[in-house]
Amino acid sequence: MSSNQYDLLIVGGGVSGTALLYMTAKYTDIKRIGLIEKYAAPARVNSLSSNNSQTLHCGDIETNYTLDKALKVKRAASMLRNYATAQPDIDHIIFKYPKMVLAVGENECEQMRERFKIFSPHYPDLKLLDKKAISKIEPAVALKDGRLREDEVLALGSTDEYTAVNFEALSRSFVRQAEKIENKEIDIHFNETVTHIKIEKDRFLVETNGICYQTKSLVVCAGGHSLKLAHDLGYGLHYSCLPVAGSYYFTPQCLNGKVYTVQNDALPFAAIHGDPDVLVPGSTRFGPTALVLPVLERYNLKTMPEFLQIFKFDRKVAKVLWDLLKVRDIRNYMFKNMLFEIPLIRKILFLKDVRKIVPALKFKDLTFARRVGGIRPQLIDKVNAKLLMGEAKIDTGIGAIFNMTPSPGGTSCLENAEIDMRAIAGFLNLSVDEESIKKDLLGDDVQHGKEDFPGRVISGDD
Ligand SMILES: Cc1cc2nc3c(=O)[nH]c(=O)nc-3n(C[C@H](O)[C@H](O)[C@H](O)COP(=O)(O)OP(=O)(O)OC[C@H]3O[C@@H](n4cnc5c(N)ncnc54)[C@H](O)[C@@H]3O)c2cc1C
Repeated sequence: MSSNQYDLLIVGGGVSGTALLYMTAKYTDIKRIGLIEKYAAPARVNSLSSNNSQTLHCGDIETNYTLDKALKVKRAASMLRNYATAQPDIDHIIFKYPKMVLAVGENECEQMRERFKIFSPHYPDLKLLDKKAISKIEPAVALKDGRLREDEVLALGSTDEYTAVNFEALSRSFVRQAEKIENKEIDIHFNETVTHIKIEKDRFLVETNGICYQTKSLVVCAGGHSLKLAHDLGYGLHYSCLPVAGSYYFTPQCLNGKVYTVQNDALPFAAIHGDPDVLVPGSTRFGPTALVLPVLERYNLKTMPEFLQIFKFDRKVAKVLWDLLKVRDIRNYMFKNMLFEIPLIRKILFLKDVRKIVPALKFKDLTFARRVGGIRPQLIDKVNAKLLMGEAKIDTGIGAIFNMTPSPGGTSCLENAEIDMRAIAGFLNLSVDEESIKKDLLGDDVQHGKEDFPGRVISGDD
């Protein structure tokens, strides 16, 4: 029976919180671990299968990643792949599809050739694909009316890699595997919302509606809600949050795998892509769009007051927003993304973008995907007047860590968990089973994730 007293308490049962539950249960000697999740099951918010792009980001085809960033994501992706491919239910968690990033026009094609030169030594499966090679993998991309499309196209891609993940199934798998570990007290509390966190002597008091848990250490993986709980404790007050929703459109199946497009460097969000939805056979999903919304959870207006509490609009937030809006490309992009939500107009506008990928796509083929797509909680760093595009972590140094994880937070769930696991084990003076982590998850990549980052930033990508 639960004593409500823990060595480690995790708040949030998405892919980040459940990955940490698994890592700490399996690879440390932390004995009593609890997880509190406000919904009735794991992964009901951004990690829900329909709320993200399901991509295992390896960095090679994400044109907004430098080589350095790409190699960091590659390490995280290979940890996830090593975990998933060892599971009995691998077929529900991780999937192989061809993937490519498509360059259209002379400039983008030149950029692609350059990228290939730099990236191919680190990504042995990566190929430079001309129009004919593309047509063999993705006929709908290279052909129009039965003939090769006329504009100049080139792609970088691979055909035999794990490229998609059901992050919801992965979260459930982490919980199941953690619960199986013997000689540990692992408690999962569903349907409980953490309302307040306090420090009392050497303990954190974590209050839900009706119960007060005590814990020596605490990691909050609650998406945008993490910032609210951090603010409650007096941490991260120099951060505000800009929630950016992503919507999708379905078409009848026209792609075999993932087709990304080249990033416009002036824009803070990844360009749209098309791919199969792992749970919706027979269709192709295009998106996501990027729409700023005043809520912390998509389609949940009850999260608006919480957004307003952490938004803390002031001169510095206004400056960041103004700096964004000053850039013509960003201003037009934001405006276009608002139009993407308006019935009829949205289809006409979105079709234009999607035809860059599938030139023969028709208006009647596009359907707005209702109640699909989550929210990326992008942080605003008020001190440096900057919008942070990647994951952010507030490590208080007193045994409490707060994570905000926009894209590619699904891909980096195990690596993030590894970093938190080390910090918490160090704080509790307990040990980490390095050999097993190396054997099970890191494989040949022996570099350990010991970087200390108060707000590590990896460019966002969906
Ligand atoms: C449109 C879009 C596309 C994306 N595409 C990709 C992609 O292709 N690849 C990729 O790697 N990443 C992608 N991401 C990012 C990825 O989905 C997230 O980084 C990841 O799901 C975050 O997981 P999480 O566990 O941190 O947060 P969440 O999944 O949001 O989980 C947070 C959990 O905390 C719980 N919670 C919140 N407040 C409380 C509270 N007070 N008490 C108790 N519980 C609470 C919530 O109920 C929720 O279950 C995408 C995101 C979006 C929005």
